[in-house]
Parts: sequence; structure tokens; C-alpha cells
Amino acid sequence: MTAGTLYIIATPIGNLEDMTYRAVRILGEVDLIAAEDTRHSLKLLNHFDITKPLTSYFDHNQQIKGERILNALRQGKSVALISDAGTPCVSDPGYQLVRDAVAENIPVVPVPGACAAITALAASGLPTDTFTFAGFPPSRQGKRRTFLSGVNKLPGTLVLYEAPHRLIDTLNDIREVLGERQVIVARELTKMYEEFIRGSTSEVIAAVSHGIVRGEVVILIAPGEVAPEESEPLENVLRRLMAGGTLSIKDIAKQAAVVSGVSRSEAYAEALRLKNDLHHT
Ligand code: SAM
Repeated sequence: MTAGTLYIIATPIGNLEDMTYRAVRILGEVDLIAAEDTRHSLKLLNHFDITKPLTSYFDHNQQIKGERILNALRQGKSVALISDAGTPCVSDPGYQLVRDAVAENIPVVPVPGACAAITALAASGLPTDTFTFAGFPPSRQGKRRTFLSGVNKLPGTLVLYEAPHRLIDTLNDIREVLGERQVIVARELTKMYEEFIRGSTSEVIAAVSHGIVRGEVVILIAPGEVAPEESEPLENVLRRLMAGGTLSIKDIAKQAAVVSGVSRSEAYAEALRLKNDLHHT
């Protein structure tokens, strides 16, 4: 028996007019629709008069449901996978199902459409030639800072998803770990209150600190300044400033960060390390 096809179908991220003709057609043709939240997707499907059997496929039932969906595909049925919004598999369930289908040579057909990360990037005004989409930062501060240190030196624009109630904490950590950069918070994309909050890290923090941030947000961060080839290595600058003996470690780190083109937190950590070394020699 020929296996059915697994369609990965993008749906709107707010504005229903962003549904594609092809998505509507294929959703109306498949044997089964696997949705992250069936009640949520039912509204979308009703809007487009699509009446097809629905099954749930979300983070916590992926293993059991994935096997059932694969079985349907093996039996020649066609299945469409959709998520609550945007492109399935992008910070949404789907990757494991696609991986398993590919492993069994089951045809996988993408049906592209909205994706919040790409929508935000396109209108951000930040460089688009190289960018990193890093999904949701961890919710715990310690892990989040480690995560941000890991992406600090990557070239190009950084694109993150974040929950609105964690936005300010994450922006504060961005300032701490990545320093002042050009930051954009893209809010409620394609919806009535769509907004782009642009500025330096501190300006954006000030702008979002006035009230409660509502709705969905994407955070975009401009590439960091690449230290010019001829800039003095951080350790040399720190040693020179420390030898002066007049500045506090904090001020030394501040000046060294500017001269060496690194973040203040990196300069501070290195300054502490050198200070400790000096004490032990
Ligand atoms: N698969 C989706 C996509 O393709 O964009 C992303 C799903 S992820 C669970 C949800 C996150 O996407 C939100 O927390 C937010 O960061 C971002 N997002 C989704 N819709 C958005 C919108 N209309 N405006 C801004 N951000 C949005």
C-alpha cells in the first residue's frame, strides 16, 4: 500500500486573512487533521467551512498520538498537521512526527504561511542576511543568562519568542548579558494592536515598564558590535587599568568593555578573575 502524505500546514498568527488558499484546499481534502488544540482549531476550521475528522497532537501526547498518526499514514491516509498559530514545528509540536515520517519514507509536504519570527524579522529593519532564531529563552533567570551568554557572540540578528509576563525580566537579562543593543519588541503581529517598540535595550525596557504588556511578543536584537581587528585584547586593557590603582572594578569593566568591544558583564567577569589571580600570586 502506498503511504499517505503528511502535510505541515501553517495557519494565521492572528489575522485570518493570512490563511492561504492552498492551506484551505488541502485541509478540506485530507482524511485527518491533527491539531495542537482541537477546540482552538475548530474555530479556524469552522470559519473556512472545513469539516474533517480532528485529532489532538500536543507536547504531552506526542508519543501515543504520533504512533496513531503514523499508522493512519502507513494505511494510505493523508494527514494535515496544524498548530494553534503559525508554522507547526517552530516552537510548536511536530518535529518528532516529521522526523519519524521521514525515517519511514512517508512523503512530507510543507504548506507555508505565517510564522511570527519571520514576520517580525521582515518588518524589524534589522539585518536579515544572517539571523538566529533561538526560540523561547529558559524561564529561570540563571538558565536564561547562560542561554544568552551562549548566543551573545553569534553573528547577525537574534530572534526570540517570549511570554508577555516574562518580557521585562528577559529584557533586563539581555541588557545585563548582551549590553546595550538595538532591540525591537514586535507585539500582536497582524492583529488590531500590532506594535513595534524600537530603541536601545534600556529605552525598550523603559517603554514596556509603564504598564502590563499584553499579547504575544517577539524580541529582536541587533548584532553586537564586532570588535575591530586592531582593538586591544580585553586582558591587556584590564591589566593596564588595574595597574592605575584608582578605579573600582565596575568602572574598569565599563571602560574595558568599550575599548575591547565586549559586553560589560564579560569585562566584569574577566576583571574579577584577574583580581583573584593577582591576590593569589
Ligand atoms: N509556530 C508559531 C510560529 O510559527 O510563529 C509560534 C508558536 S509559539 C508557541 C508562540 C509564540 O510565538 C508566542 O509566545 C510569541 O512569542 C510568538 N507569536 C505568535 N503569534 C504572535 C503574534 N501575533 N505577534 C507576536 N508574536 C507572536
